[in-house]
Amino acid sequence: MLRLPAFEYHRPQTVEEAARLLDGFGDQALAIAGGTDVVPNMKHGLFEPAQVISLRGLPELRGIHVRGAELVLGAGETLASVAAHPMVRLHAASLAEAAGLVAGPQLRNMGTLGGNVCLDTRCTYYNQTRFWRQALGYCLKKDGDTCHVTRVGRKCVAAHSADTPPALMTLGASADFVSARGERSIPIADLFIADGIWNTVRRPDEILVRVRVPLPPEGTRTAFRKVRQRNAIDFPLLNMALACELDPEERVRSIRLVVSALGSRPRMVSGLDEVATGRTLSDEVVEAVAGKAHQQCRPLTNIIVDPEWRRAMVPVHVSRMLRGLTTPAAAA
Ligand SMILES: Cc1cc2nc3c(=O)[nH]c(=O)nc-3n(C[C@H](O)[C@H](O)[C@H](O)COP(=O)(O)OP(=O)(O)OC[C@H]3O[C@@H](n4cnc5c(N)ncnc54)[C@H](O)[C@@H]3O)c2cc1C
Ligand code: SF4
Repeated sequence: MLRLPAFEYHRPQTVEEAARLLDGFGDQALAIAGGTDVVPNMKHGLFEPAQVISLRGLPELRGIHVRGAELVLGAGETLASVAAHPMVRLHAASLAEAAGLVAGPQLRNMGTLGGNVCLDTRCTYYNQTRFWRQALGYCLKKDGDTCHVTRVGRKCVAAHSADTPPALMTLGASADFVSARGERSIPIADLFIADGIWNTVRRPDEILVRVRVPLPPEGTRTAFRKVRQRNAIDFPLLNMALACELDPEERVRSIRLVVSALGSRPRMVSGLDEVATGRTLSDEVVEAVAGKAHQQCRPLTNIIVDPEWRRAMVPVHVSRMLRGLTTPAAAA
C-alpha cells in the first residue's frame, strides 16, 4: 500500500491568508485544491511538501457567472460544475466538453478547474512509485540527473496532460493570480512554457483565483477532442481544441487550433489564417489545416503509447473536428 508522508495541513479562510501561508513557508509549501493529482503524487514521492495549504472553501475561488463581456469561472469550481453549467455550455461549449472528459465522474466531482490549469506534467518514467523510479536511477524531473526520454541534454520533455487549457487558449481566456506580492493576469496562451519540470510562468506561491473567458463573437463555433486508452477515465494521449468564427456565408473570419498532450506545453498551431481565412471549410481547407497541425506536432516517448501513432492521429482528429463544425455527424 502506498502511504501519504507526514505533513502539516492548513485550512485558510481567505485567499489573502492562503497567499500569506504559501509565501511564509516558501518551498516547503504546496497548495491543494481537489487533491486528485496532489495526493497520488505525494504518495509516489513526487511532491514532498512539509506544509499543505488547502484552497477548498475559499470564497474568492467560487462561482461561475457572466460579468460584462466575460464569462468568469472561479478556479475552485469543480470540473463537474464547469461541464454542466448552462452559461459555460452556451458561451464556451469546448470548455464544457473538455471539463466533462477529464478522468471519470468521481474525479470530476473533486478535481477543480484551477487544479487542471496548474496540473503537473506527466511522463512514463516519472508517474511511478519511488521504488520503480529508484530502480532506474530516478530522472531529471525528480531526484535524478538523466532524462530517459531524450537521453541527451538536460531538458525534461514530460507531457502537458491537462484537458481544459487547450480549450481556454482557443477561447482567448486569461488567468488571474494572487500572491503575497499582489495580483497579476496572464493570458492562458502565454501561461505555458516548454519545460517539463515546471511548465508555466506561474510562480509556485501564486494562487489561481479565476479564469476569464471573453464572450465569443456571433458565428463562433468551438470544439474539443481527446484520444485516450480507456474513455472511462484516462489522461489524454492527445487532445485538441478549436475556435472558429464563421461569417453568415460560412466563410472563416478567424480560426484558432491548439493541440496538446504531446510535449510540455500546448501548441497553438500557426499559419492557419493563410490557408483558411476568407474561405469556407471545404475538403481542401480542412486538409490544409490538418496538414499544418501534423507538420508542427512532434511527440516524444514521454507517454507509453507510440509517438508516431499519436502524431498520425493529429490530422485525423483535426479533420473530424473541423468537419463536425459544419456537419455534426462527421465528428463521430
Ligand atoms: C486516474 C486519474 C485520471 C485523470 N485523468 C485526467 C484527465 O483525463 N485529464 C486531466 O486533465 N486530468 C486528469 N487527472 C488529473 C486531475 O484529476 C485533474 O487534472 C484535476 O482537474 C486536478 O484538479 P485538483 O483540484 O484535484 O488539483 P490538485 O491535485 O489539488 O492540484 C493539482 C496542482 O495544481 C495546483 N493547484 C491546484 N489549484 C490551484 C490554484 N487554484 N492555484 C494554484 N495552484 C493550484 C496544486 O498545487 C497542484 O500542483 C486524472 C487524475 C487521476 C488520478
Ligand atoms: S521527460 Fe525525462 S526528465 Fe522529464 S519526467 Fe520524463 S524521463 Fe524524467
